Amino acid sequence: MTKKKEKGQLIVLSGPSGVGKSTVIAELLGQRKGIYFSVSYTTRQPRVGEADGINYNFVSRTEFERMIADQELLEYAEYVNNYYGTSLKMIQEKLNAGIDVLLDIEVQGAAKVRARCPEAVFIFIIPPSFEELSRRLHNRNTDNENVIAGRLEKAKIEFREIPTYDYLVINDKVSNAVEEIEAILVANECRVDNRRNILKGEFSL
Ligand code: ADP
Ligand code: 5GP
Repeated sequence: MTKKKEKGQLIVLSGPSGVGKSTVIAELLGQRKGIYFSVSYTTRQPRVGEADGINYNFVSRTEFERMIADQELLEYAEYVNNYYGTSLKMIQEKLNAGIDVLLDIEVQGAAKVRARCPEAVFIFIIPPSFEELSRRLHNRNTDNENVIAGRLEKAKIEFREIPTYDYLVINDKVSNAVEEIEAILVANECRVDNRRNILKGEFSL
């Protein structure tokens, strides 16, 4: 009876830099099949261990500005002196094929997605404390003190946007955060609106 979804679910995950989004997403993708992670375009330099096409598509500012001009991006934003954006074509293809798509994007980009795709699910992820966020950014050892200070300042501004999200997840332990996101996705799939394809058959009114 279970039919393949006609359209994939767009899932937006935001949270301050260093909260653990990439870590939580890697764990989630390992556990839950059928989610496509949208690899963003960015003008920032790759960190040690990051690979082009896997973590991000690393492009020049000129190339990014060409993509903006040619309307190739669903959304984009400037974050701590670099551009970040989501390819429109890639996510449309996946959603139309019934595949869920996960975006890891900051709050300005999320607001643009909310305006264009109100049916998306919006999840904000926070650390157990601000002190712990600072500790994680320092422990990650990928950014200099100036960049870390910029990211912590940005975090305070981002927290103001939490009320515009549907769900709040606390990344105290990675496994707890993943479990909460899984619960959100399962509950969302059970919404009547998202099961209309089942209702077309023997359950139609
Ligand atoms: P983001 O993608 O949000 O910028 P990362 O996934 O890079 O964050 O995580 C930042 C740092 O915090 C990394 O060193 C990561 O190993 C660590 N980290 C992530 N989640 C947790 C957690 N629940 N507890 C402790 N450290 C964590
Ligand atoms: P980082 O440099 O730590 O990888 O990412 C910085 C911020 O950019 C994070 O908050 C991340 O969610 C956000 N980000 C990553 N990709 C995109 C994107 O495609 N669009 C937008 N708007 N933000 C993004």
